[in-house]
Amino acid sequence: MTGHNRGSLTTGRADGGGHLPLRPLWLCRSCAAPWPCATARLTLSQEYASDRTALIVYLSLLLHEADEQLYTLDPAGAPDPRHLFDRFVGWARRLPPVAAPPPTPTSGASDQPTDQSATP
Ligand SMILES: [Zn+2]
Repeated sequence: MTGHNRGSLTTGRADGGGHLPLRPLWLCRSCAAPWPCATARLTLSQEYASDRTALIVYLSLLLHEADEQLYTLDPAGAPDPRHLFDRFVGWARRLPPVAAPPPTPTSGASDQPTDQSATP
């Protein structure tokens, strides 16, 4: 894999408060919910707000990894592929076109230092 390392949850940049997948169970290391948990989804949606395609590609790769590992762990009890797809990728496809960043506690800060399209 090349050219697709932009600080994902598995590379450690955005730890999302530690809401990382615990392989091969694919549960959240922090809250023990099926990964990606709500916090991990929020972190991912913010991290990939400007590149939804990359997010879906990334989640698809994790989906395949999880599918293999969960099946290996328990072939009889492996999740339904449709359920697994919705868990890993479906939520990201339903995100609004542009994910707005959460409101920052320091409101009224200076505007973006770059891309000043309107100059007085
Ligand atoms: Zn979590």
